[in-house]
Amino acid sequence: MPELPEIEHYRRQLGQWILDRPIERVRLSNERSTDVSPEEFAGALEGRSLLFLERRGTFLIFHLDNGHRLLIALAKDGALYCGEGEEEPPFAAQAEIGFGERTLYIAGKGSVLRLMTVRGLDDVLKTLGPDPFSRQATPEYFVNQLKKRRGALRSTLTGQKLVAGIGPRYADEIAFAAGLLPSVKVQDLNGESAARLYEALESVLNAAIDSGGCLSIPLSAEDTVTGGYLEQCRVYEREGQPCTDSGALVEKMDVSGKKAYYCPQCQYEQTPVFS
Ligand SMILES: [Zn+2]
Repeated sequence: MPELPEIEHYRRQLGQWILDRPIERVRLSNERSTDVSPEEFAGALEGRSLLFLERRGTFLIFHLDNGHRLLIALAKDGALYCGEGEEEPPFAAQAEIGFGERTLYIAGKGSVLRLMTVRGLDDVLKTLGPDPFSRQATPEYFVNQLKKRRGALRSTLTGQKLVAGIGPRYADEIAFAAGLLPSVKVQDLNGESAARLYEALESVLNAAIDSGGCLSIPLSAEDTVTGGYLEQCRVYEREGQPCTDSGALVEKMDVSGKKAYYCPQCQYEQTPVFS
């Protein structure tokens, strides 16, 4: 499932292939990917070019040269591929957008592509908390907001309101890095634990972005980076395997009806203070 690091990795890589080039071809295989007819969708994009690629949470936002935006929200099984020439993508594409020699293919049955005005997009984005890398998401904001919330750590991290872009994988990895159980109630966290959680969130997301995230499908034929963080995950989907720090076997627990992975020896009710 693409989360913030996977989308940010895409954003950083795609610019070299798709910015400032006229969009020549648009094809939608799944009409339900957008809210207008495929013809209308293609007509609005063909001949335009992209000035800028933005990301908010897990949304990828293309800034068109007419001031409009194309919002791409990848489904759980969503992925992107940027092929060259006649090269085929390694999946059944829901949509494709051709930029000269390169074609961007979009996978995922529930993936959404929506043409929007700036105001329409703002209405969508204001339902989300700040992006973890925005100026708004300071340690002070994070610790203060955490105090006002109620509920399990795992649910708060994936809720998109405190910060946007975190899903199950990175929620578990961040909790491990902070030394906190995914089930702890955020209202019970002390100042030290909250501060440590913020550091863990920033460091895990940054490391995952720099390593290419966790999707196993490469972004292009020459890509050797995408998916590089998979082998660095410490707990997510590692049930029964030894923790790389303590050797204890990683376990799975239920937090508000969702599976969460954790190490029973490295994660506590509060971040341990080491002398
Ligand atoms: Zn451990």
